[in-house]
Amino acid sequence: MSEPKDPDQRRSTAQLAAELLSDELLERFRRRAAEYDAENRFFTEDLQELQELGYLKLFCRTDSGLELASAAQRRLATAAPATALAINMHLVWTGVARLLLERGDASLHFVLDEAAAGEIFAFGNSEAGNDSVLFDSTTLAEPAGDGGYRFTGRKIFTSLSPAWTRLGVFGKDASSAEPQLVHGFIDRRSSGYQVFNDWDTLGMRASQSNTTLLEGVLVPAERIFRKLPVGPNRDPLIFAIFACFETLIASVYAGIGERAVQLAVLAAQRRHSQKNDAVLASDPLVRQRVARAALLMDGIYPQLAAVARDIDQRVDRGAQWFASLVGLKIRSTEAAREVVDLAIKVGGGASYFTGSELARLYRDVLAGQFHPSSEDSALNTIATAWLGPA
Ligand SMILES: Cc1cc2nc3c(=O)[nH]c(=O)nc-3n(C[C@H](O)[C@H](O)[C@H](O)COP(=O)(O)OP(=O)(O)OC[C@H]3O[C@@H](n4cnc5c(N)ncnc54)[C@H](O)[C@@H]3O)c2cc1C
Repeated sequence: MSEPKDPDQRRSTAQLAAELLSDELLERFRRRAAEYDAENRFFTEDLQELQELGYLKLFCRTDSGLELASAAQRRLATAAPATALAINMHLVWTGVARLLLERGDASLHFVLDEAAAGEIFAFGNSEAGNDSVLFDSTTLAEPAGDGGYRFTGRKIFTSLSPAWTRLGVFGKDASSAEPQLVHGFIDRRSSGYQVFNDWDTLGMRASQSNTTLLEGVLVPAERIFRKLPVGPNRDPLIFAIFACFETLIASVYAGIGERAVQLAVLAAQRRHSQKNDAVLASDPLVRQRVARAALLMDGIYPQLAAVARDIDQRVDRGAQWFASLVGLKIRSTEAAREVVDLAIKVGGGASYFTGSELARLYRDVLAGQFHPSSEDSALNTIATAWLGPA
């Protein structure tokens, strides 16, 4: 990024994100997004371009943080939601490493070093039916005797499946009286795991979030980075994962909502009413729908920027931090869903064709509700922040 000509004139984060991801790049990605979706194919070409841009090294740079990553991911998602969602997983791990480092914990410094050297990190934490999410695991972590662990279990929805070179996983070591949750990174070159080819979903198809079967894969001692008790706890790793994950998930869905507003505007300007002999943009009902959609999104952008900036600046929101993070995720994913619905009403029957961008956004945006935190879990977190434990 070049320095501004007038040093007193600071560029907005949105401008910096636009410098990173040009309009031409977005158009290319948008065209390819339709192809990946139709062919249920991984975003290989997008990934290569993003790597060439140094996009996967955002958190390795000292001049950028979560605020820029969030703005950039929102921008990327306006063109290619599934690409942005999958790239999120790499950004989450590198963001976590960066957050911890800024708070005096260098235990994940190697993640930043390896990302700078071109490694791609994925997130292999989700397990079917595990509604404790990070606070318990159905995966077995068995001590290998030298500080390393062997992991056995089934991880679902592993985005970036075809491309990751490092997969973050966790499992439960129940070999002692006090079971522990053990976190480590698998090297793709290891044996003892399988990646299935089972990603055939309604939306977010390019993320290729296949199932990963861990069959005693060995993670050596130097790749084991945390051991935590089972159940909720206040380890900085948990805050760092929540902070990066919820903010970047919210950014992707904000990008989908933003694009839906743009498509609603284009449709209102393009469609013509035979009855009134006028463009739909002059119809009061259509105007209201577009205005409602724009209004819903309008509140998300500053909230997103404020949360990301406060994380970057280590602002102390005390007991409200987790409520802020889950609230942001729920508000963004829900608003985006409502906005895509409104845009489809404005777009009319044309948006019902499989090749329509709005049809794709309609399918992609549904995925927002499945990412942690679920609405139930988020409401529980927010209630605890305001009322104390039940
Ligand atoms: C697009 C997307 C990307 C994600 N990426 C990641 C990621 O990179 N890393 C990560 O850790 N988590 C990821 N998640 C997972 C997410 O965080 C949740 O854990 C996940 O949505 C499971 O939610 P659940 O507990 O409601 O699912 P559950 O219903 O408990 O589990 C889903 C299970 O349903 C099974 N299933 C049911 N019906 C079918 C069917 N017809 N065909 C195939 N399988 C079926 C699957 O095998 C799977 O095991 C992603 C989620 C989404 C939607």
